[in-house]
Amino acid sequence: MTERYFVETPIAGDCALLVGPEAHHLTHVMRAGPGAEVVLFDGSGAEFPARVERIGRAEVELAVLSREPVDRELPLELTVGVALPKGDRQRWLVEKATELGVTRLVPLLTAQSVARPEQKPLARLRRTVIEASKQCGRNRLMEIAQPRDWSDFVTDSVEAPHRLLAHPCSDAQDTLSLIGCHAHACVGMTRLFRRFRSCPHKRGHGTQLAVGPEGGFTDDEVSQAIDAGWQVIDLGPRTLRVETAAILLAGMVVRQVV
Ligand code: SAH
Repeated sequence: MTERYFVETPIAGDCALLVGPEAHHLTHVMRAGPGAEVVLFDGSGAEFPARVERIGRAEVELAVLSREPVDRELPLELTVGVALPKGDRQRWLVEKATELGVTRLVPLLTAQSVARPEQKPLARLRRTVIEASKQCGRNRLMEIAQPRDWSDFVTDSVEAPHRLLAHPCSDAQDTLSLIGCHAHACVGMTRLFRRFRSCPHKRGHGTQLAVGPEGGFTDDEVSQAIDAGWQVIDLGPRTLRVETAAILLAGMVVRQVV
């Protein structure tokens, strides 16, 4: 695949400018010079074959040769709400979610969340989204939404045809009976995805997923979600890390639609 570079400002005319880490990557890592052919994308859903014209001290000027709409998005909107893990595991999660085609990642604020995500680390995660999009060929960036309180997140999306909350079910059976819900609120993967396949997806009809923090969701949080119409899904007998659970669940949904 031709080297891809991300341009911050929407590409409109027949020239474009690379700045910051993208200019650095082209000149110092790839050691490209005038005449080199690359592909640009600006997150609008198209890609732009381009030729390097001039290398400046901190920027690179390119001639845009054409605009080609290339759609590598999922056929549905997929939102993953997740109580973010820390450090490298957070970056891993964002990279893999981008590769899978997740539309939006919402950092969740739950009772047992370890860290309240700050603006600076969130901006760094956006850089991870760009890097992953360069590599996997996505022409739209996965959105990293503002952190959201659990109670708002579960009630935000009543129209989404599928809303799945990952929660270990052996515990959940106890939880569900303790909080007075029927056990069928917790479904196994096979049954759930059979149902998932039989329901046609259209763009704009989103699927929402939720994964809790290392300490798990509280009984109260699970019951809030069930009251709002979410389904609880068990991912097997082992306790998965937050990022493993999020990527497994997103991957299972992606597998149903591609
Ligand atoms: N001790 C916690 C485990 C939390 S693991 C508990 O009992 O809930 C972090 C998150 O990953 C969980 O909140 C859940 O959303 C998801 N998860 C991990 N393992 C899972 C499993 N086997 N089934 C369903 N969800 C799981």
